[in-house]
Amino acid sequence: MLTDTETDTRESGIEMVSSSVQAARADSANADRSQPCAVVHVDLDGSSAIYRHHGWAYEYADDPLFASGMKNMLAFLKRNDVRATMFTIGSDVEDDQKREWLIEAVRQGHEIASHSLTHPHLSRLSFEEKRTEIAKSRELLTHELDTTVNGFRAPGYEIDRDCLELLERYGYTYDSSAFPTPAFARRLNVYPVQAGPDRTGRCLTVRFLKSRCQPTSHRLFRSIHVTACCSGCGISNVG
Ligand SMILES: [Zn+2]
Repeated sequence: MLTDTETDTRESGIEMVSSSVQAARADSANADRSQPCAVVHVDLDGSSAIYRHHGWAYEYADDPLFASGMKNMLAFLKRNDVRATMFTIGSDVEDDQKREWLIEAVRQGHEIASHSLTHPHLSRLSFEEKRTEIAKSRELLTHELDTTVNGFRAPGYEIDRDCLELLERYGYTYDSSAFPTPAFARRLNVYPVQAGPDRTGRCLTVRFLKSRCQPTSHRLFRSIHVTACCSGCGISNVG
């Protein structure tokens, strides 16, 4: 049974809809054809970022994993006429070779979004360190690649409430780090109140509520992109 307060909160709830739901909707006869039938998104983690994330030393000047990954991915996307969102580590633009690949990605029409500045475990950082990762990465990517950066994905999906507040403060318009699970709801201080099959029966639509003890004016909370989906639709998270 819901209390009056919970009922009021439900009315101001936010809907978190997975990209796979978009795909399912596009399949339906009444789908809005202006919406994409699928969303392709990739985290551009090279060897140096992966080593650093695990606390290992990376002692090489180049990063063949990043270079070969970009080369093959751009060719694949071009061959299939797909425009993707690439979650990019901000400090990578300071590497001449990586910057060239990123400039080429922008030239081919792909969206650049932030994957933090140095790919740390955000949950282990102070508020000020999180601020640097979020603000500086957007500034660097925007300036060095001459593109608009709207989105963010936390390394390892370690998004929290502080990060969402900072994303809004520094001009991001969406986050793509949350999964529709109770654990993420607790971490973000929102309430999951609805989870079930989409009307096609293939995917999950999840509605999260803002906590009633939190302000309700956050634009970003209305544009959290859930990146998971049910196993039945065959579409999985690429990030
Ligand atoms: Zn990553």
